[in-house]
Amino acid sequence: MKTNYGQLTVDEVRDTDKDRVVILSVSATEDHGPHMPLDTDTVLGNAVAEGAAEKAPNDILVMPPIPYGFNEHHKDFPGVIWIEPDTLGSFITNITKSLAHHGFRRIMLLNSHGSNHPVLDLAARKTVIQSDVICVSVSYWDLISKRINELRKSEIGGIAHAGELEAAIYMYLHPELVYLDKAKKQILHNPDSKFFNLDLAAGGCPASMMRWWSQVSPDGTMGDPTVADPETGRLFLEAAIDATVELVQEIRALPILKRKDHH
Ligand SMILES: [Zn+2]
Repeated sequence: MKTNYGQLTVDEVRDTDKDRVVILSVSATEDHGPHMPLDTDTVLGNAVAEGAAEKAPNDILVMPPIPYGFNEHHKDFPGVIWIEPDTLGSFITNITKSLAHHGFRRIMLLNSHGSNHPVLDLAARKTVIQSDVICVSVSYWDLISKRINELRKSEIGGIAHAGELEAAIYMYLHPELVYLDKAKKQILHNPDSKFFNLDLAAGGCPASMMRWWSQVSPDGTMGDPTVADPETGRLFLEAAIDATVELVQEIRALPILKRKDHH
């Protein structure tokens, strides 16, 4: 069973089960400290989507990913390619509307870059209104925060951007592209704050604020990549893949509900 949307022929896409969940991975091309590549979010998002498709090929189709995101606040660092949030949202809903037009009913927007989260959430809600299909948005780390906290070596604040989680998974996938000797521990999380949280696995953030990245991080890192290791990366990735498969199965089982006009 093919799981790569781009590899389907017109006949195959016409005949495929339209209740398979179509995963669109959205990431970013941006600085990840001196120790990791610009494509970190894209590589990690693809690994989760493709790993899930390998485990549940009958339930999943994987779209060609969007490797750019909402990250203008990173542009003081070299290499960042940013997309306006309105443009990104429209680009995504153009894809989801196209999928709905061809008969697909269940779509998952899989996020691997923090600041895309509100854009993808909005795009998913717009897709439901515009196309009457099921559309879900999720950031992969939110699916596995309990497991991350069981496996992590870093303290709270160690998993934010180019920290332990991303470095460990990238090291597992492409060890030759992570330069741990250049990595620095930069914990910017304030444990005394009641409302702001700068750790992806510390249980959400009641208040949100995004500063310019260069105001808060000297080299782009936020977290502790120095403790990352590939074996823990494998376990993080495995957990994200398993949770994505579970989420897919739940989305696949959701009823398609009818609207009712109460005027
Ligand atoms: Zn990242």
